[in-house]
Amino acid sequence: MQDASETGWITERARAIGFDLCGVAAAGRFPELERLPEWLGRGYEGEMAYLKDPRREDPTRVLPGAKSVIACALNFNTQQPASTHVPTEAPTEEPRGWISRYAWGEDYHHVLGGKLAELVAAMQEHFARPFEARWYVDTGPVHERVFARHAGLGWLGKNTLLINEQLGSFLFLGVILTTLELAPSVDQAEAPPPDLCGSCRLCLDACPTNALAEPYVLDARRCISYLTIELRGTVPDGLREAMGRHVFGCDICQDVCPWNRSGAVTQASEFRPRHVSTEEEKEEETGMSVPAGDDETLFHPRLERLALLSEEEFRRNFRRSPLKRAKRQGLVRNVCIALGNSRMRAGAAAYGRVCEILEGLCGSPDSVVAESARWALARIEERKKIGG
Ligand code: SF4
Ligand code: SF4
Repeated sequence: MQDASETGWITERARAIGFDLCGVAAAGRFPELERLPEWLGRGYEGEMAYLKDPRREDPTRVLPGAKSVIACALNFNTQQPASTHVPTEAPTEEPRGWISRYAWGEDYHHVLGGKLAELVAAMQEHFARPFEARWYVDTGPVHERVFARHAGLGWLGKNTLLINEQLGSFLFLGVILTTLELAPSVDQAEAPPPDLCGSCRLCLDACPTNALAEPYVLDARRCISYLTIELRGTVPDGLREAMGRHVFGCDICQDVCPWNRSGAVTQASEFRPRHVSTEEEKEEETGMSVPAGDDETLFHPRLERLALLSEEEFRRNFRRSPLKRAKRQGLVRNVCIALGNSRMRAGAAAYGRVCEILEGLCGSPDSVVAESARWALARIEERKKIGG
C-alpha cells in the first residue's frame, strides 16, 4: 500500500529547496511517449539524433526497476516585458537582438541540478528502505514535460509546452526517476490536469516560421529555437527572414499565451538578465577607455555588441550560461542573420559600423559565419537600393 504522506513529504521538501511545483506519478509507458515514433517518422527532430533514443519511450528502460517519477518545476519568469511587447527599433536606432528568456541568467542545468541532488540526498536520509534514484534536467533520455503532466503539474498546450494554471509556462522542469514506490499526486482514477487551451490558437497563428505543424505538434526543423541553438550548419535560406531579430531561442509562442498573462514573477535571482562585458569594459575598472553604450544585459542586447565578442569574451560572459550551447560561431551566425533582418537605414549612426563588422566577418575562417555575413550585407545593400 502506497503511503500518501511519503509523497507529501517529498513535495514539501521540494518546495523548501526552492521548487515552485512538485508532483509524483507512477513510472510507466505514458501515452504521449507512444506517439514519439510517429513524430520521429516525420523527421521533425531534425539533427537532434538524441531524441531517437528508444529509452525515451519508457522510463523503466532508463532506470530498470523504476516505480515512480518525481517532477519538479521552477518558475523563471523575470519581470522584463515579453518579446511581443518590445517593439523592433526604429530604422535610425542601433539594431538589437532577442535572446530567449530562459537563457538570460544562470544555466538552469546547474540551478535545477543542484536542487534535485539536494532533494535526492534528503530522500536518502529520510527513507529507511534502500532505493535507487537518478535525476535529469534535459540531460538524459527522458521527456520531462510528459512526466510533469502525469504528476499533475499542468497540461501540455498546443505550443507543446507544459502550462500550469497559476504559473503559466515559463517553467524549468527537472525529474527524478526512482525505484521507490510512491503514491501518485494525481489519483490514478482521475485524468491528469485538463487541457485548458480550448479553442485558442494564438501560439499557432503567431509562430513566425509555422513550426507548429498542427496543434500539439512541433516541427523542430522550422522552430527558431532549433535553428538558433541546435542547428550547426547554415540556416536554410527560406527561414532566415522569419527568424527576425532572434539570436538565441524564441519566446513568441509563450509570450502570446493567455496563461502567461498572470505575470507570476520568479523569486529566483539567478534568472535575471546577466550583464555582457567586453574587454574595453574590463578596462573601466583600470581607468581606461570605455565604449559608449547603455547598461548592456542579455535582455534585448545590441547586435553590434554580440557580433564583436571575442572567443575569450564569449567564454567569460557565458560561463554557466545556456548561451554556451550555441558556441561563439553559432551566436555570431545568428547575429549576422538578425542584422540582415534589421530595419536599420543608411542614415543610422550605427550603419557604417555594422557594415564594417559584417565586412570583417565575411572573411571569417568559419564558412558558416562568413556566408551569413555576406547574406546580411546583401540584404542591407538591397534595402539601401530601394531607399530603405
Ligand atoms: Fe514558433 Fe518560436 Fe514557438 Fe518555435 S519557439 S514554435 S519558432 S513561436
Ligand atoms: Fe494553448 Fe492558446 Fe496558450 Fe497556445 S496560446 S498554448 S492554444 S492557451
